[in-house]
Amino acid sequence: MKAQRKAEWLAKRKLHQQELSVDQLLEGINAKNISSLSSAITLIESAQPKHRKIANELIQKCLPLAGNSIRIGITGVPGVGKSTFIENFGLLLHQMGKKVAILAIDPSSNTSGGSILGDKTRMNELSRLDEVFIRPSPAGDSLGGVARKTRESIVLCEAAGYDVIIIETVGVGQSETAVHSMTDFFLLLMLSGAGDELQGIKRGIMEMADALVITKADGDNIRKANVARREYENAMHLFPAKESGWIPKAMTCSSIERTNLQRIWDVIESFKNATTINGWFENNRKQQDIHWLKETLDAKLLQAFYEHPSLKEALKEQKQQVANKQTTSYLAAEELFEQFLKSINGNGI
Ligand code: GDP
Repeated sequence: MKAQRKAEWLAKRKLHQQELSVDQLLEGINAKNISSLSSAITLIESAQPKHRKIANELIQKCLPLAGNSIRIGITGVPGVGKSTFIENFGLLLHQMGKKVAILAIDPSSNTSGGSILGDKTRMNELSRLDEVFIRPSPAGDSLGGVARKTRESIVLCEAAGYDVIIIETVGVGQSETAVHSMTDFFLLLMLSGAGDELQGIKRGIMEMADALVITKADGDNIRKANVARREYENAMHLFPAKESGWIPKAMTCSSIERTNLQRIWDVIESFKNATTINGWFENNRKQQDIHWLKETLDAKLLQAFYEHPSLKEALKEQKQQVANKQTTSYLAAEELFEQFLKSINGNGI
C-alpha cells in the first residue's frame, strides 16, 4: 500500500480510537510527517465537536509556520484536461525539487457522495510518489464547508513544508470564485474551438484568470490551439486592469507531450516575483483572510437565524400571511428580524 493511503487509513483508525493530541500532531507536522498531516486533515473534516476543538487548536499553532508557498488555483470544465495537466505539471515540479500538495474543491461530491476531483486514480504516476500530497474534496459537504476545510488544509500543508499548493476545482459553478479567494495565482484551462459559452466558462471567471492555458496543443490540434490562444489574448486585453498590476497571459500546452509546462511555471514564478515586489502578494492574502472572516460570519448569522427554534414557527406563519396578502414581504421580514433580535438579547448575546 502506498504510504499516503496507509497514512490516511491509520489516521481514520487513530481518530476512532481518539489517540491523537494537538502536541503529537504538531510535532509530526513539524517533522514533515505525512501521516500526521493526514490525521490532522481528517480531524478538520470531522463533524464531531471534540475533533473540531483539537483541529482549531492545531491550526492556531500551525499558523506561524504557514504562508511560505505559492497557492495555485486550477479550474476548467470536465474533460479539459485538469488531471492530466496536474499529473504532468506536478511531476515536473517534483523533479525540480518542489514539495507539491494537491487539494480539491468539488461541491459535486455533495450530491455524488464522492469527489471527482483530486482523485488519486486520476493522477496515477503522481499519486505513487510519497513526497506528493493529494487530498480529494471531503464528500457530503456544502461549498462553504468544503471551502473552510480546504483553507485550513492549506495552512497545515504549508506548516508541513509544502511549497506549491494546487487547489483544483471544476469550472461549472461557484466554486471557482471560492478557489480564487484562497489562492495567489488563478489558472484557467480551456479547450480550443469549443467557444466560451459551450465550455460554460463565464466572462467573470475569465476575468479572474492570471493565465489562460489552451490544453491539448498537440498533433492536429496545434494550429487550432494557437488560433484560440490569439483570440483569447485579444479578448483579455479588453478586461479591466488587475489590482495586482499583472497582465494575464494566454498560452497553449500539451500535458501528454509535456510542452510548455516549464513555461507555465516560469510565468507563475514571474507573477510571484512581480507581485511580491509591488506588495500585492502579501496584501492580497490579508484581504483574503478578511474576506473569509466575513463569509464565515455571514454563514453563522444565517444559520443562527434560520435554526433559531422560536423563529421557525414565526417564519412559517409570516410566509402564510405573505401568501394570503395579509402582510407585505418587507413588513414580515422586519417583524421576524425584531423577534430575532429580542430572542438573542433575551439570551444575553
Ligand atoms: P479533466 O476532466 O479536466 O480532469 O480531464 P482529463 O485530464 O481527465 O482529460 C480528459 C481527456 O483529455 C482524457 O482522455 C485525456 O487523455 C485527454 N487529454 C488530457 N490532456 C491532454 C493533452 O495534453 N493532449 C491530448 N491529446 N489529450 C489530452
